[in-house]
Amino acid sequence: MKGTVKAGVIEQSESRYSELRKMLEDRRRELRAAVQGKIRDVREEASWGNKQTEVLDAGESSESDIQDDIEFALIQMKSETLNKIEDALGRLEQGNYGNCFECAEEIAEKRLRALPFAVRCKDCEEAREVAERRERQLAARRGGASLFFDM
Ligand SMILES: [Zn+2]
Repeated sequence: MKGTVKAGVIEQSESRYSELRKMLEDRRRELRAAVQGKIRDVREEASWGNKQTEVLDAGESSESDIQDDIEFALIQMKSETLNKIEDALGRLEQGNYGNCFECAEEIAEKRLRALPFAVRCKDCEEAREVAERRERQLAARRGGASLFFDM
């Protein structure tokens, strides 16, 4: 009976590993496609924009510049996420992914699907958020400008 349970545990963690790897690889594929697609879009828009420049007045042209900036910022954000996914895959290979920093328990797969870069389990994260909120309140009460914006 003991042996069966043990075998079950090993099997479960192997399936967890492959589930997590699949999840991360899917994300990586989506992000790569999105980043490459976006870069293509921006290039197309840029060449389209150049042809249209003459008919646009200054206001419209600066609006399209802002649009380009937003597009580039999005690409950059996605690239950074892509790097984090690569990093997470590396850590998964080494067995350092998906466990809580605080209590070392496995982070629920559902949580990792929603937040692939979560480093704490739900309980520890909530405890930390409560502690941070208290910190912020204390800092605000001390009259310091809050540097802890929620991003
Ligand atoms: Zn924890």
